[in-house]
Amino acid sequence: MNREKRNVIIIGSGPAGLTAAVYASRALLQPLVISGRTPGGQLMITSDVENYPGFPEGILGPDLMVKMREQATRFGTDFVDDDVSAVDFSARPFRIMVREEEYLSRAVIVATGASALWLNLESERKFMGKGVSGCATCDGAFFKNVHVAVAGGGDSAMEEALFLTRYASHVTIIHRRDKLRASPFMQKKAFDNEKISFIWNSEVMEVTGEKTVNGLVLKDVSTGKSENLAIGGLFVAIGHRPNTDIFRGQLPLDEKGYIRIHDGSKTDVEGVFASGDVHDHRYRQAITAAGMGCVSALDVQKFLEENS
Ligand SMILES: Cc1cc2nc3c(=O)[nH]c(=O)nc-3n(C[C@H](O)[C@H](O)[C@H](O)COP(=O)(O)OP(=O)(O)OC[C@H]3O[C@@H](n4cnc5c(N)ncnc54)[C@H](O)[C@@H]3O)c2cc1C
Repeated sequence: MNREKRNVIIIGSGPAGLTAAVYASRALLQPLVISGRTPGGQLMITSDVENYPGFPEGILGPDLMVKMREQATRFGTDFVDDDVSAVDFSARPFRIMVREEEYLSRAVIVATGASALWLNLESERKFMGKGVSGCATCDGAFFKNVHVAVAGGGDSAMEEALFLTRYASHVTIIHRRDKLRASPFMQKKAFDNEKISFIWNSEVMEVTGEKTVNGLVLKDVSTGKSENLAIGGLFVAIGHRPNTDIFRGQLPLDEKGYIRIHDGSKTDVEGVFASGDVHDHRYRQAITAAGMGCVSALDVQKFLEENS
């Protein structure tokens, strides 16, 4: 058991957790970041990040996250590179378990993010950041005048497809069923857009290419027949899953499993705050996650001042 009581423990080390760590450490709170199995978070699996302010030439996702970690370390943040396995928020100090080790803290910032759902194809992993993406806002501009495909049938797939029509020469939506799950409003917008077409009842079986993506192998789920589709990019938009399993029964979650917050970054448990994609299923950007991480650190400062 680790008996030292921390002022604040930050769970997660994506843009939200590391920004919270920069602010909390500069406020001399000596935070402990428990980084999780993916130190750096989602941006570790991407290449160019062109929309994070301050980098006019763009920056590689992993490089950005290394810089954020260095900045937090500089001001005295400690790190444990492991997953939190369980938490007990029923009384203060809060208890946070990492395997057999137990950590105690006066305040907690939850920044465990979300995981994009993927098709689970080996070829999809191979071309990640080389034509396969999970974020049109992030990567759409790399596909000017290119025919791209979007896999999915919900509101976010329609949003991705509509956004991509700004850049792409054409957008083909590939859906496993014969009708969309998206709301009637989003469906109409997609159907009315002349740059968008649909392939129904089809699954992506393989992403093909050499250095970058040049096509897909599709299977018609009703006939079993395969066909090749020539495209230059694939956007996978089949949903996200918040990393909140360990908080079930400890924090109020919404119907999709995201942490509910109010009044800045407060959860319903006094002293526990949340920021980034773990509560935000709407904006899902590095800069919005970082902004909320800052809010959480400022909320923690105030909470500790009022509860010393
Ligand atoms: C391929 C890809 C490309 C992207 N490109 C861009 C882009 O160009 N621009 C942009 O703004 N956004 C981009 N995004 C979105 C951006 O990455 C996310 O919005 C952002 O990373 C969210 O930050 P976060 O800190 O909330 O969570 P995350 O980055 O998801 O980090 C979550 C952290 O929590 C940790 N964690 C999870 N479970 C546990 C646990 N049990 N215990 C301890 N730690 C845990 C993980 O290890 C990780 O460190 C991209 C996303 C993807 C998937």
